[in-house]
Amino acid sequence: MPGGNTRSVLYYPPFPLAMARGQAARLWDADGHEYRDFIAEFSAGVYGHSNPVIRRAIDTALDSGINLSGHNLIETELAGAVCDRFPTVERVRFTNSGTEANLLLLAAAKVYTKRSKIVVFNGGYHGGVLSFGSGHNPVNVPHEFLLAKYNDVASVEALFDKHGSDIATILVEPMQGASGCIVGQPEFLRALRDLCTRFGALLAFDEVMTSRLAPGGMQERLGIEADLTSLGKYIGGGMSFGAFGGREDIMAQFDPRQHGALAHAGTFNNNVLTMSAGVAGLRELYTPEAAVELNKRGDRFRDALNQQFTASGLPMRFIGLGSLMNLQPTDKAICSVDDLAGLEHRIKDLFFFHLIESGVYMARRGYMTLSLPLTEEDMTHFISASAGFIERYRTLLTASQ
Ligand code: PMP
Repeated sequence: MPGGNTRSVLYYPPFPLAMARGQAARLWDADGHEYRDFIAEFSAGVYGHSNPVIRRAIDTALDSGINLSGHNLIETELAGAVCDRFPTVERVRFTNSGTEANLLLLAAAKVYTKRSKIVVFNGGYHGGVLSFGSGHNPVNVPHEFLLAKYNDVASVEALFDKHGSDIATILVEPMQGASGCIVGQPEFLRALRDLCTRFGALLAFDEVMTSRLAPGGMQERLGIEADLTSLGKYIGGGMSFGAFGGREDIMAQFDPRQHGALAHAGTFNNNVLTMSAGVAGLRELYTPEAAVELNKRGDRFRDALNQQFTASGLPMRFIGLGSLMNLQPTDKAICSVDDLAGLEHRIKDLFFFHLIESGVYMARRGYMTLSLPLTEEDMTHFISASAGFIERYRTLLTASQ
């Protein structure tokens, strides 16, 4: 592997930790150090490591054979669970990753509308080949993207004024996760819905990350009906997973009984391990009640951390929603990636290494996601480690402001 790496986000200098083992909300690295896991596979690991219910589901699937070369009996169960949970998803198809889900979603939108342009946002992340974080990305797929500013309705209106009749879809994250948990303002997201309706474009919500923030995802929480939705992460029970779905008439393009149906292939789309683990996860573990509870815990946890930063006078805050959050080196409001430019992001490195020393693992970029097995004691430990950071570095950081 070039640079010893096969997943770019996991690399950081001087060298990344290699994890050897996980159990519930704990991780052990290759040197045997133990960590409380506050990243939980970048939100896919909401069930924790080796959850017995997930394990049983995978064992049961294995008992009936792996890779059955046909429709199987579990895929409809997962499709049912997904459609029950996310009200605007009338029909769904499975993929192997969130990236792939978004690729298929965009194809569906373009063919359905017979239009070619796609509105996305600076700072948006929809997969490795659909990444709009930092300028031109040579790895991106070559669609006709139009870039707007997140939380800025005028910037989207300007694109529709110029290209309205050519725009197939707006693809938007209700909260920009990879760019640092920048929350989409409800009135902004509602304005996108109105613009799409007015111009005959489709509104596509990328809920790969945000679907866990409420029982029916952010669109349910906000009362906004997306035409298309992409899903991923924890919904496959921790196995490789992605899905795209939405309005029946749009998804009907993939109905193989129809003449000229769109093809959507994928050897592992209905693999029994993902299907089985996914059903167990949604039906037995991450129930609507569990989703509400975990997000409430996340809100309380973030408030406690931010109260410490406020009291210390340090311009640092965790931003985000519920169980997803990101440390940012400012106490000002952050509405788009423009508000993050020029800040001293090395403070996040310092925080990360301090937490590693304190036996806590999160993402180097300051991102963390909560999982079901995290205990109150784990959270208290994190809060004291953060207090220790303030104590240790306050003088240095205040002097450098
Ligand atoms: N969309 C969003 C919003 C994501 O956060 C991610 C992954 N971080 C993806 C798409 C891509 O999903 P995957 O990594 O499964 O391809």
